[in-house]
Amino acid sequence: MPPSEQGRARRLLDDCFLHDKDRMRHHEALDLLKNRLAPLADSETLPLDQAAGRILAENVLSRRNVPPADNSAVDGYAFAHADYLAKDGHLPVTARIAAGDAPAGPLEAGSAVRIFTGATMPDGADTVAMQEDCRSQDDGGAVTIPPGLKPGANRRKAGEDLRQGDTIATAATLLTPQHIASIASAGFGEIPVFGRLRIALVSGGNELVEPGNPARDGQIYDTNRHMLKALLAGMPVEVSDLGILPDDPAIIGKTLSGAAQGHHAIISSGGTSRGEEDHIVATLDGIGKRHLWQLAVKPGRPMSFGQIDDCVFFGLPGNPVACMVCFLLYIRPALLRLGGADWQEPMRFPLPAGFDIAKKKSGRREFWRGKVEHDDNGKPRLEKFARDGSGLISGLWQSGGLIEVGEDVTAVSQGDLLDFIPWSEFGI
Ligand code: AMP
Ligand code: MG
Repeated sequence: MPPSEQGRARRLLDDCFLHDKDRMRHHEALDLLKNRLAPLADSETLPLDQAAGRILAENVLSRRNVPPADNSAVDGYAFAHADYLAKDGHLPVTARIAAGDAPAGPLEAGSAVRIFTGATMPDGADTVAMQEDCRSQDDGGAVTIPPGLKPGANRRKAGEDLRQGDTIATAATLLTPQHIASIASAGFGEIPVFGRLRIALVSGGNELVEPGNPARDGQIYDTNRHMLKALLAGMPVEVSDLGILPDDPAIIGKTLSGAAQGHHAIISSGGTSRGEEDHIVATLDGIGKRHLWQLAVKPGRPMSFGQIDDCVFFGLPGNPVACMVCFLLYIRPALLRLGGADWQEPMRFPLPAGFDIAKKKSGRREFWRGKVEHDDNGKPRLEKFARDGSGLISGLWQSGGLIEVGEDVTAVSQGDLLDFIPWSEFGI
């Protein structure tokens, strides 16, 4: 750890009433995660159909030209444009070529061939006329093609999509269905990807009960573990569910030490602040190393990041909204990085605010639940979920994403441009 960070870590430890200016800022936390985390996952070869959502382990270069040969984009007639001009569009039809036919011989000089979509163009033909525009004559023995066709019309050139040797995707790419399409078109039946990260998931709190069971007064249903499992379901990870832990430092210590063997990362929620019943931070300090704890971010102040032996540890806030926001902003990209991917930054869409906020604390970055609405003229504007509480879980599905408000902002007026991050930017 560089000396500046050691100083910061010690100060964070000693002061339980940190001012926002002493907490780590959003971009500092991202930089720390980006710089500290390197891929941990091994690679494996997978059938193409199992590779979407996985992270590519090697560059994939096209094995062939796509398409492999010039071919017709329509059903119609193929010919040489020079013949079409010379013969005023009246050409004898001397062959028929359908998609998948073995390459025909060269075009007979001064003639056309009947051709269908995807069929390879005969040598000598460079242009295709759509059948709807042509008049077949002599029982199909000749065709009249209307004037005005440009050379090369309706012809797809060999290699116009991919040339042999072109890079389709580089190592560290998170594979989308779009990549799978191109990789399939280049002929690969299997590809090298990083293996799934092994993640241990745990909730902490004496008040928590597993959904599906009766709850007595004072108990609440464990929300975070199920929300996190659903968030992780779309990622290249394999989750071990360690259930709910009581607020008992001995049990927490034993469980986390055990989980650190055999998992690449542990994700816990709850118990990460400074209260008497919060044991995550002290446990982490006892059995591992802490690299980050307090963030100048709302929601989400207490978020811990550290390691227990070689296992990465993430301690999320207990409030479900803060838990989800911190997962999406910090842990999702961190897990993808550990899994072999490039750092994933969500796209921000600047949109005018449709609301006023008289006062916002400076020095702190805030992420408000919000959604896009349209005014009477159809213009989009941002609306903010009315209540801020970090425990208001229903605000998560009533919103379409997060409105990001920077540290320097102290008020918002209608019409101010604010950055919106739709949930879809986090793959959900
Ligand atoms: P803590 O971080 O443990 O102080 O928890 C903060 C708030 O989040 C408390 O109201 C907890 O009851 C609540 N909480 C903690 N863990 C969970 C969980 N897994 N599901 C739902 N609420 C939780
Ligand atoms: Mg608690």
